[in-house]
Amino acid sequence: MYGLTRSRATIQIERAVLYPLPVPTIHIQEQVPLAPYTTLRIGGPARFFCEVTTEAELVEAVHFAREHTLPLFVLGGGSNLLVSDHGYPGLVIRATIAGNIDIDGYRDKLPQKTCITYRVPAGMDWDAFVHMVAEAGITGIECLAGIPGFVGASPIQNIGAYGQEVATSISVVRALDLESLEFVTLPSEQCGFAYRRSIFNTTHRNRYIITAVTFRLDLHATPTLTYADLQKHFAKQTTAPKPIDIYHAVREIRHGKGMLIVEGEADCRSAGSFFKNPIVAPSLLTEISNTLGTPAEKIPHWPAGEGLIKLPAAWLLERAGFHKGFLIGRAGISSRHTLALINADHATFADIAALRDGIQHEVQTRFGILLEQEPVQLGV
Ligand SMILES: Cc1cc2nc3c(=O)[nH]c(=O)nc-3n(C[C@H](O)[C@H](O)[C@H](O)COP(=O)(O)OP(=O)(O)OC[C@H]3O[C@@H](n4cnc5c(N)ncnc54)[C@H](O)[C@@H]3O)c2cc1C
Repeated sequence: MYGLTRSRATIQIERAVLYPLPVPTIHIQEQVPLAPYTTLRIGGPARFFCEVTTEAELVEAVHFAREHTLPLFVLGGGSNLLVSDHGYPGLVIRATIAGNIDIDGYRDKLPQKTCITYRVPAGMDWDAFVHMVAEAGITGIECLAGIPGFVGASPIQNIGAYGQEVATSISVVRALDLESLEFVTLPSEQCGFAYRRSIFNTTHRNRYIITAVTFRLDLHATPTLTYADLQKHFAKQTTAPKPIDIYHAVREIRHGKGMLIVEGEADCRSAGSFFKNPIVAPSLLTEISNTLGTPAEKIPHWPAGEGLIKLPAAWLLERAGFHKGFLIGRAGISSRHTLALINADHATFADIAALRDGIQHEVQTRFGILLEQEPVQLGV
């Protein structure tokens, strides 16, 4: 599905033709169960459902929704989704936009550096793209290895892990603007990226359907390991790890935590971390320290900018009595990662929602913090 055009000379411009657009051929299906399209394996049917592989098909699908006055929802790999048992009453468009990866290069003047850019169609598997870049010896996204889902969803919540965030590598996002029905190119600065945020999941939620993302990476940068688990992994190595070494290390660490999708493993029937790490005023840290009788410096926290601090949601869950392997009925917490709520055994939306509500209530009662759900919720 994905052709690759690449120049062996470092910065020779080479453009791939993404399309001649074929005549659109969308196939609209009815009452399609959504559970198999999500990593939680939960969710009722979509009233209408289609997959689109080109921008022309996407436009046709949007027209179908408009003609029939249907709400529409864009689905990627379904790895950050909690879908209601009642399903979705509108059109679900699975954005498997395919095409070539377009590689280009240029010199930045300030600061002076030589960059390589990859323009990637939205439907490409994220991990496959990370592998391709890391194997080419280029650093910038290797710590984001093993995150499930499609490239097109990576800007939505500005995916991040092990010391990297995708925002720092995104140059532009191409999207269909549902207000004007035109394709637009949004430079990274206009995407409002922050921790697990962008305009796509806040101010402009549901306005844009992303069809391609362009990444810009410094060709001569060397990997930096900021995350303790990774530093430990390479502690005995005398030579600096290459991006591909880090790619494999991250996947190994993820697997140990059940944060890699492995078919058949109950621990990864999840939507990844279910709660965002809360960003709070330092005074709250003092309050928690007083409540627990634990010195503030012993409570894990990091600076989050603007005088605020970030607390690990997993730590709060554990202190509130929600440990790894916790089970309530058919839903539970992964036995390898406190932040991952799992579909332990044929759980429903209601099971996960009840567990979520219980955790939120307990953490709020004890620490005065309302944990924010990370996965996108479709329906109630
Ligand atoms: C085991 C596991 C580990 C995870 N680890 C991490 C992690 O370390 N860091 C992290 O940040 N996330 C993590 N996640 C969450 C998830 O993988 C990411 O958020 C991923 O980017 C979601 O991609 P997706 O294609 O599956 O999107 P989906 O779940 O299908 O959709 C998520 C949201 O993006 C929107 N969307 C999807 N595609 C498009 C598009 N083309 N245009 C417009 N909107 C779109 C959807 O409408 C929805 O609102 C993890 C999930 C799992 C299951």
